Order: sequence, then C-alpha cells, then structure tokens
Amino acid sequence: MIQLSDWARDLLISRGALVEGEGEGVVRALVPPDVSAKLSVSDWLSLDFGTRVGADDPAEWMDRLSALLPPSPAVAGVRLRMRAPTQRIDADAILNRELVVQNGVWRLVEDYAGATPYYLFSFQHTVESDERTIGYAGVCLNGAARSLAEQPERLLRSVRDDLEDDPAFAVPAAELRALYPLAARAAEAEVRARIAFIEQSANRRLARDCERMESYYSGLLAQLEKRAARRTAEPQAAEKDRDRIQATQLDRAAKLEDLVRKYSLRVQLELTDVLVVSLPVRTISVRLIRKKAERQVTLAWNAILRALDTPLCEACSGRARPLYLCDDKVHLLCANCWSPCPACARVFCRACQPRCKCAKK
Ligand SMILES: [Zn+2]
Ligand SMILES: [Zn+2]
Ligand SMILES: [Zn+2]
Repeated sequence: MIQLSDWARDLLISRGALVEGEGEGVVRALVPPDVSAKLSVSDWLSLDFGTRVGADDPAEWMDRLSALLPPSPAVAGVRLRMRAPTQRIDADAILNRELVVQNGVWRLVEDYAGATPYYLFSFQHTVESDERTIGYAGVCLNGAARSLAEQPERLLRSVRDDLEDDPAFAVPAAELRALYPLAARAAEAEVRARIAFIEQSANRRLARDCERMESYYSGLLAQLEKRAARRTAEPQAAEKDRDRIQATQLDRAAKLEDLVRKYSLRVQLELTDVLVVSLPVRTISVRLIRKKAERQVTLAWNAILRALDTPLCEACSGRARPLYLCDDKVHLLCANCWSPCPACARVFCRACQPRCKCAKK
C-alpha cells in the first residue's frame, strides 16, 4: 500500500507545488494559488501524517486532497478476448539485457506466468506560447508492480482488435487515485521532451529580440549619458537628464519582462480517460544486492510488448532506468535521487532522507 504522505507529495507536485519532505510522514509544500484555493489553505501547506501528538488526520486530508484529482475521467475496463498462456522466457537473458543496475548486482529467484492490470492514462496537453499547440500523451502503468510499460501507443495498437468490454469491471477508485500522480508525472516528462523544440525555438526568438532591444536601449542610454555629462553645470537640466535616464532604464526593464512573458510557454495537462486492461506478464522475482544489503523485488515482463517494465524511482516516481540502489534499504532509485549533495558532495538516498545530513548542522 502506498504511503499517504508519498501520495500527497506526488499529487501536490503534479499540481505544480514545490514540495520538500522532512522525514517520515511529513509533507511541506509551497502551493500555487488555485491549489491553495481548492484546499482552503495558505500558500504554505504543512502536513504531518506521523504518529506524533497533534498529527494531521489522514482520512480528513485524503478527502481534502482528493479535490485536486481531475473531475471523474472516463474509466473503461476491458479484457483480452483470447489469452494464450504466456510462453516460457529466458529470464536471465532478459535481465542481462534490460535490467541495468549501476551500483549493485541482481540474482534471478524465479519467474512465472500471470496477468496484471495495466492502466492506460490518456492526457491531452495544450501548449500556449505565441501560438497554441494541442497534443496527446499516453502513459501505461502496471498497477501491481508500480512500473511503467514503455510505448503505450504500440501496446494499445497490438491489442486493440482483441479487446472486449469487461462486464465484471468495477472502477478501482483507490488504485486510480494512487496511480494518477505517477501517471501525471510521467506524462509531464513526456510532454516536456516532446515540446523541447517549441521551447528551443521560443528561447531562440527570445534571445534574438532581447539582443535587439538591448542594443536599442544601450544606444539610447549612451546618448543620454553623454548629454548629461555635458550639462553638469546646469543643475535643473542635469536633474531632468537624470530623470530621463532613470525612466529609460525602467522602460527597458518593463520591455524585457514583456518579452519573457511573450515567449514563455504555458503547458496544461488534462486527463481525458483511463483504460484498464489485464495483460499477460511473466512475473520475475529478483534479489537486488548492494554491498552487504539485499532485497527481493518483483519485476514484470510484459508479454505483449515483450519487454521488461521500467521500474519507478521510489523517491521521485520518475523512471529508474538505469537503476541505482541505496546502501541501507536497497531502495530503487533514479540517477538524480542517488546523486551527490550539492553542498558536501556526499551521495545519499532521497528516499531514505529528503535532505542531506549536512544541512542540519
Ligand atoms: Zn528519482
Ligand atoms: Zn551534504
Ligand atoms: Zn534508501
């Protein structure tokens, strides 16, 4: 079961909040105005779901935070009409190829056939700059393994003709609520990569316009200063010159702000629908070993895509491929969440501790 504080953190981040964690069960966040309005809180939200005296009520906050979830998207449950049993696989060879553990080793325990619900989240994204672009992004999550199936479009294309309505389907509300923030973050990363060229082009045009404007104003200011230097003997004229220079500088700053506003991108992500389908997998149990610590985890090999799902980072929920492990609890981490502290250069696990210990001294 996912921790409430993790869910709250992911959900707040997906709504544009700046979140910092401070130990077990605690979430502190700077939230944007629309979020603070929805939650009826100030800009700073501080939640404590620990067992301490005066901690926040988890049930109450689960309810309040649910206001941030998208208004009931269309959720459909389908099943595969025919399901041939998943054939045996060479799990060792697959892991050798697809499981890259950067700072540890893995040992295969066992693998067996099964079926697992996959959640295909569809998002529409609108990018507004000096023009408007609309696109779609899909994210496919494995609910049981909390991993990501890459290439959701290809996955859907491969099974589309074999899908039929699942009469026994009941909307898995709790699971959807837990998975939504992960899906939103994956979609955000995807959209971000996709609009990179729009961003680059906007940045290029911004740089060009700034340069033009800069050269216009520096010419103007140089003239004004020259004239002011000639007239220092006349106090009234000198004051006028000073005012003029100041006004021109203010004007330049305002124009610069306008330009930045003109070329900044506003990206909106909206969940349109979710398709839930149980797909054949091979469940692979592995022992992950890091120095003296080890931990057994289950990975999923998707039989439709014939590929290993990408594990999600246990600190930031981003893709953990290549995979890093921490020393103590063998958390599954992405490169960012197992990286040196910018202050003291000591590598630390962002899942074990949100901040480096050197910050507290
Ligand atoms: Zn991470
Ligand atoms: Zn440090
Ligand atoms: Zn850790």
